[in-house]
Amino acid sequence: MNVLVLNAGSSSLKFQVIATDLERIRQHQDQRLCKGEVERVGGEAIVSFQAGEAVQRKFTAPLRDLPAALDFLVRYVVSDKSEVREIKSTADIHAVGHRVVHGGELFSESALIDDEVLRGIEDCIDLAPLHNPGNLQGIVAARQLFGKDTPQVAVFDTSFHHTIPEPAYTYAIPYHLYRRHRMRRYGFHGTSHRYVAYRYRALRGLTREQTNIITFHLGNGCSATAIKEGNSVDTSMGMTPLEGLVMGTRSGDLDPAIVNLIATKEGLSASEVETLLNKHSGLLGISGLTNDMRELLAELREHEDRRVRLAVEVFCYRARKYMGAFLATMGGADAVVFTGGIGENSPEIRNRICDGMQWAGLEIDASRNEQMIGREGLISTDASKLLAYAIPTDEELLIARDTVRVILGEPHPS
Ligand code: ADP
Repeated sequence: MNVLVLNAGSSSLKFQVIATDLERIRQHQDQRLCKGEVERVGGEAIVSFQAGEAVQRKFTAPLRDLPAALDFLVRYVVSDKSEVREIKSTADIHAVGHRVVHGGELFSESALIDDEVLRGIEDCIDLAPLHNPGNLQGIVAARQLFGKDTPQVAVFDTSFHHTIPEPAYTYAIPYHLYRRHRMRRYGFHGTSHRYVAYRYRALRGLTREQTNIITFHLGNGCSATAIKEGNSVDTSMGMTPLEGLVMGTRSGDLDPAIVNLIATKEGLSASEVETLLNKHSGLLGISGLTNDMRELLAELREHEDRRVRLAVEVFCYRARKYMGAFLATMGGADAVVFTGGIGENSPEIRNRICDGMQWAGLEIDASRNEQMIGREGLISTDASKLLAYAIPTDEELLIARDTVRVILGEPHPS
């Protein structure tokens, strides 16, 4: 089955086409046929396209809105220009899988999209006003383009965290705010945490129930998840993706009174403060230089810059703090797993986060750690009691697999 995986944002559309079925899933033999991105939808859009190693293209096209971008993209994929031999017409795209950011309390797993599911996603817009409208537009556009006979599946960032127990998801604010406005921890990056947990247990030959780990997704957005017996039991992001770890441009945890203090002292509105915490904080805010970890580390190697050093230190300190907190709340774990652009590619950051965790039995093996860049494997020593792994994430693959499983009515193993 050829599955078109879509991640539709407000002005961008990321896509992949993945050939997969139940047998390929079992054999871990899914095939990525092509992938790419349309950015700056609404004007002269930039299209990046890749099929295998040989075909890599970047060009511009005037695309006024998301439906136009999707239409253009699908026409391109089915045309000879794309050089994707397996897809000659839209009929060769058998299903569409959508990344949907917020599924609220409604969706505990991926769902076959019908009118009721669409209404459910609409209902979650007030929980994720920045993300769900774009996701929804992507679904509507795909329905129009492919017609109702092509099945479409929604895969939610939040649904893996559906198993978080009440004491871990309840905020200590007046309870009616939960009742009235559904204010609670939901967590995000669920597809990524779920995927690396699956790869971890595949690498070690364990069952889902034997999976007791802490996963760190460290990219532009960052989150940590405590996974006990295969289930998410706590996570660092909250009602929105602003809570928790230090991120590229987001503050993560802070004293909530600061929101009003910034507003008063800087003469900003509440929503301007929210923008400041989402877009001008984190690594960028502390360093005053960039949100890009690779650039910060390169800067540090060249010369001493106090704020750059501090940004990296605060980032690692916060991650280690969550590791300790989750070890306590889940009663110990067997392994920590690093993923995301930083977690997959930076031995230095992995080392800095784990340094000082020897008390918990965690010892990083310097040479294994250095070698594990962009590939999956153990990075702790043989003697380490708490294991450490680097595992590249693949959210699109999991979306494609869920799409197949939901359509065929096969329960997914999470
Ligand atoms: P997103 O969350 O947008 O998907 P990514 O997962 O691609 O982002 O992560 C982007 C982050 O990963 C950036 O901060 C980037 O600098 C960082 N990164 C990528 N490669 C490296 C590297 N070799 N060393 C350190 N950081 C890296």
